[in-house]
Amino acid sequence: MSIRLDGKATSNQIKAELEKEVSSIKKSGKRPPHLAAVLVGNDGASLTYVGSKVRSCEKIGYDSTLIRLDDTVTQQKLLDTIHKLNNDPGLDGFIVQLPLPKHIDEETVLHAINPDKDVDGFHPTNFGKMALGMETFIPATPFGIMELLRRYKLDISGKHAVVIGRSHIVGRPMSILLSEKGNPGNATVTLTHSRTKNLSEITQKADIVVSALGVPNFLTADMVKQDAVIIDVGITRVPDETHPKGYVIVGDVAYNEVKEKASYITPVPGGVGPMTIAMLLQNTMLAYKRNAS
Ligand code: NAD
Repeated sequence: MSIRLDGKATSNQIKAELEKEVSSIKKSGKRPPHLAAVLVGNDGASLTYVGSKVRSCEKIGYDSTLIRLDDTVTQQKLLDTIHKLNNDPGLDGFIVQLPLPKHIDEETVLHAINPDKDVDGFHPTNFGKMALGMETFIPATPFGIMELLRRYKLDISGKHAVVIGRSHIVGRPMSILLSEKGNPGNATVTLTHSRTKNLSEITQKADIVVSALGVPNFLTADMVKQDAVIIDVGITRVPDETHPKGYVIVGDVAYNEVKEKASYITPVPGGVGPMTIAMLLQNTMLAYKRNAS
């Protein structure tokens, strides 16, 4: 039997800490941190994510602005919006919710964001700083996983961590952070992806597995070692007519069977997802403090 790494409770703790900080900022007569989100189009999952980011801001006392653009918006119009946000002194940070419509080049858009306001940590300047272990905005999902490991005091030093997935927003930064000097950190990391051969042989040797590929129930009990730490990043909407929403959220890990073998495991939902939002709020506080100094 495993211990559940409760991302929901931990994120609530982080949000309560931030709320306290905001309240003393406001008491001193200063404006609170301000986060904006740009959402292009009507993708259901994106709407849900952005909605909960905005609600979380409001709940802890941040100012928040949601900018919605039609999915036919031109790349230039989106870039103009970004330039405006870059130059707004009353705004500490902003995010552009991904994915973007196909006619818009994601890289061009993300590179147009002022690195000082890039609270998602996707700009090359911030990614480079993160890779060098410098203080910066760390992409919220891997940052949230590191924070979860830290708060549960899981010692990963010298352990073998296997990351599945090499995306720029989750897998790749995760592999860097796990191997970085520090606590948590100092792990020996294997980064795996769609071209990896014999993945199962690799995951079976892992003390920690971070699964970020987006294939429901991909990681089964036979693929993991006894007492491994299992972190499930995957979020897939699987159609389910018996559910009022018409779908259920399923992670990458076959939770019910893997939890019998793992020492610690994150559930989906209630694991990595809420931590991602908490760390976005934390990055916004960092942006605010830098902006104010
Ligand atoms: P992505 O599609 O950009 O990357 C997926 C990665 O998985 C790729 O690097 C690919 O090489 C690898 N992959 C695909 N099939 C594989 C296989 N059979 N074996 C090994 N590797 C394989 O996805 P992403 O943006 O990194 O997101 C991954 C998952 O995490 C998705 O389900 C996404 O919804 C979820 N996600 C969750 C959060 C959160 O807050 N919990 C945040 C971001 C992404």
